[in-house]
Amino acid sequence: MTNWKTILTFTYPHEAHPVKALLDSHHIPTFLKDEMTIQAHNFYSYALGGVKLQVPEDKFEKAYIILKESGFIVDKKERKKDIIEEVKQDKNTNLNICPFCKSENVSKVKHSSQLIYVIYLLLGLFLPIFRKYYRCYDCGGKWKIVKK
Ligand SMILES: [Zn+2]
Repeated sequence: MTNWKTILTFTYPHEAHPVKALLDSHHIPTFLKDEMTIQAHNFYSYALGGVKLQVPEDKFEKAYIILKESGFIVDKKERKKDIIEEVKQDKNTNLNICPFCKSENVSKVKHSSQLIYVIYLLLGLFLPIFRKYYRCYDCGGKWKIVKK
């Protein structure tokens, strides 16, 4: 018996089909779990956790690579690697929680890297704005707090 493993989930069935077609073209068998239920009753999607695109367990790795190369899967670790996002601070802002993945595995980075320093110097921008930012060790996100 084949063990099926969920590789991606979608809110609506029509979002799943291009991805399914891509895997089909690589001869990877696919199965859309809960597709019929959600097609008939769209509002069940959230309750059921969406349409699940599943592949056989032994094909999972191959499918993962294909979906990653075509941009359907974005590795959490690679996301926002070198971008420092601006996060607006309000009274609910918790500085110890990652705004992207809610992880508490974050740290404050006091000084920007030498490279950023040089770039900013060359661009003639005001330096202190990049003095301090936060980073998350779980998703690789970087952000700085902007006061309203
Ligand atoms: Zn994070």
